[in-house]
Amino acid sequence: MIIDDQTYDVIIIGTGAGGGTLARKLAVTGKKILVLERGEFLEKESSELEDIEVFKKELYHAPEQWFDKNGETFYPQTSYSVGGNTKIYSGALMRMRERDFEEVQHQKGVSPEWPLKYADFEPYYSEAEALYQVHGKAGDDPTEPPRSADYPFAPVEHEPHVAEICTALSEQGLHPAYLPIGLGDQGRTDAEDTGISPAIKGSENVTLKTSAKVVGLITNPSGLAIKAVQVEIGDECFLFLGNIIVLACGAINSAALLLRSCNEKWPDGIANRNGLVGRNLMKQSMTVLMQQSTSANSGLFQRSVSINDFYWGDPDFPFPMGHIQNSGGILQDVIFSEAPPIFSVLTKVMPNFSLRQLATRSIGWWLQTEDLPMPDNRVRFEKNKIYLDYELNNLEAHDRLLYRWQEALKQVDRSAKQSIFAKNIHPHGSTPIQVVAHQCGTCRFGEDPDTSVLNLNCRTHDIDNLYVVDSSFFPSSSSTSPALTVIANALRVADHLIKRLG
Ligand SMILES: Cc1cc2nc3c(=O)[nH]c(=O)nc-3n(C[C@H](O)[C@H](O)[C@H](O)COP(=O)(O)OP(=O)(O)OC[C@H]3O[C@@H](n4cnc5c(N)ncnc54)[C@H](O)[C@@H]3O)c2cc1C
Repeated sequence: MIIDDQTYDVIIIGTGAGGGTLARKLAVTGKKILVLERGEFLEKESSELEDIEVFKKELYHAPEQWFDKNGETFYPQTSYSVGGNTKIYSGALMRMRERDFEEVQHQKGVSPEWPLKYADFEPYYSEAEALYQVHGKAGDDPTEPPRSADYPFAPVEHEPHVAEICTALSEQGLHPAYLPIGLGDQGRTDAEDTGISPAIKGSENVTLKTSAKVVGLITNPSGLAIKAVQVEIGDECFLFLGNIIVLACGAINSAALLLRSCNEKWPDGIANRNGLVGRNLMKQSMTVLMQQSTSANSGLFQRSVSINDFYWGDPDFPFPMGHIQNSGGILQDVIFSEAPPIFSVLTKVMPNFSLRQLATRSIGWWLQTEDLPMPDNRVRFEKNKIYLDYELNNLEAHDRLLYRWQEALKQVDRSAKQSIFAKNIHPHGSTPIQVVAHQCGTCRFGEDPDTSVLNLNCRTHDIDNLYVVDSSFFPSSSSTSPALTVIANALRVADHLIKRLG
């Protein structure tokens, strides 16, 4: 074991939406910051996702197996790299709705209230949108929460086929809105280009170590402070000392790290006095659906449409159903490559030409519904393995959303102007367990130490120098895409840490 002889003011573990953003905002403090990332920089070409090989070979699976609750193995679709999952995400950067912060009755249970409200997050959403260069249009979505500022950039225009669909949807009385997307000169903005790279380039006080997998948190003898972080770099094991430790490994890996670091003082895992670490894992119900057309599109374009007409329900089903967005060009969408039964088996054996033909004659749709926090849906760490005990819930709401959307698309297909769309062919598939894209909730924040893991500053209730600043803190998942809320929260916690660091 090699013990590093410096003590850092802050050690941040993970460089995704949470960690990368936090590093950038803390960099200007001049404090000595160490950032530890288990992955490497992705080569630019492989992060652009514009190649049929991405689609075909199920790239972007972590090089490790996880286990479901029955002990079946799977390779999680998650990116261990500088920038984390924002290197493979679609860049849809949505605010949660105002009501998502309140207790909401769903058909199958209750989505809990957040201890902070939309108004507390609003300034940070604006800051996040400016930082990640979000393109959008205020006022065209009936569920949109109030905003203190317009989007920093104009919306991304729809691909012509998608524009036609939007016109037909509007004629049905629906409200297709522009999907907010983070876009910069290099394509989608991510936590490498927007977070980590500016942090290390502009500031000598920030050190990034890549291929540095954190495997343990070492407490002091009382168990009330983290003294050191144990890290595997290549074949060697290091100890790094820090005054403040921030976990930002993503909701599953941060929980796993707390659980695996158990010691005499914390036999069930660090900061896990109430047994809540790892519990209430959420990842939303997700379905991908294809609308087939008789003429080709490029297969390479940004997501641009957001439909929230069913978000809070309708007269026939007065419970939240969820959110719909188009997939963007299907050849760019890594999640589509995972979704049976549409493509997964067929595409692995299809020649590239046929696959491209199929993909470019399709518009993909992406449906997501809030899943409710359940204590039994959890991350477990046993015998050096990560288990996800997870069962989807709130399924009828998702089925109803799917049914509503199929009916809406059938009308689009029937509409005289839309003759380019094949009639009523809408194959769809729900995403399997390895799609952990929207994971959240394993260390929820709250005021009560008995019912939450983190306090309102995302510091663990019991360990004064330990924070978790990734999607773990969510008390509920909402049906929106999570990254903007993770980014906004990191900016919020950064303000707290800046004050604390003096
Ligand atoms: C294919 C895909 C598409 C998506 N599309 C969207 C979208 O369009 N919009 C949206 O809002 N969200 C989207 N998401 C989700 C979004 O990417 C996540 O919500 C967001 O990245 C979560 O941020 P995070 O900081 O919690 O974790 P991550 O971004 O996952 O970052 C975690 C980081 O920690 C590192 N790490 C993990 N364990 C360790 C360890 N032990 N030691 C050191 N480092 C470690 C990882 O390598 C990674 O860099 C998508 C996700 C995927 C996978």
